[in-house]
Amino acid sequence: MWRFSGAMVCIGFKSERRPDIAGKLRDAIVFGLLPLETFPRCVASAVDPTAYGPTSEPRTDAPLDGPEASSVQATRRVFVREMIVRDQALRHSHGTCESCGNSAPFTRPSGEPYLEVHHIDRLADGGPDRIDRVAAICPNCHARCYYNADSASFNNALRQNIQSKAQVG
Ligand SMILES: [Zn+2]
Repeated sequence: MWRFSGAMVCIGFKSERRPDIAGKLRDAIVFGLLPLETFPRCVASAVDPTAYGPTSEPRTDAPLDGPEASSVQATRRVFVREMIVRDQALRHSHGTCESCGNSAPFTRPSGEPYLEVHHIDRLADGGPDRIDRVAAICPNCHARCYYNADSASFNNALRQNIQSKAQVG
């Protein structure tokens, strides 16, 4: 039923309406995967964060080879941009959930506080991948964004909080 096709890096996920095993539509999580062998090149082009500002496009001029170069290049561009925005969001949060205000629930092996990055306007719906549209939040608040009975108003409160922070900072 399953076939191993190679080691992948998860570059993000989105929610889509997809049929289940019985053909009934439900919310499905679709993961974006990038072959592991392309990963070092993605990182190599992102190591200099001063090469581009938060609103400008990441550099895309690093050489690529192979038949799938153009799709890899497009995927890499999205990945690098997303990585920069995620990194900025996590740094701006100073280890504190930008929704409930609690400290990160635990620490990563690297010593970084564990918070998750939430896209307030989903990329899948055409939301911009910008620092004023993402929030670094704790896993509880992240789940609440999707599964709370009033997740829409929860998301709106989060959007206002992030936008007011962006105006101050
Ligand atoms: Zn929280």
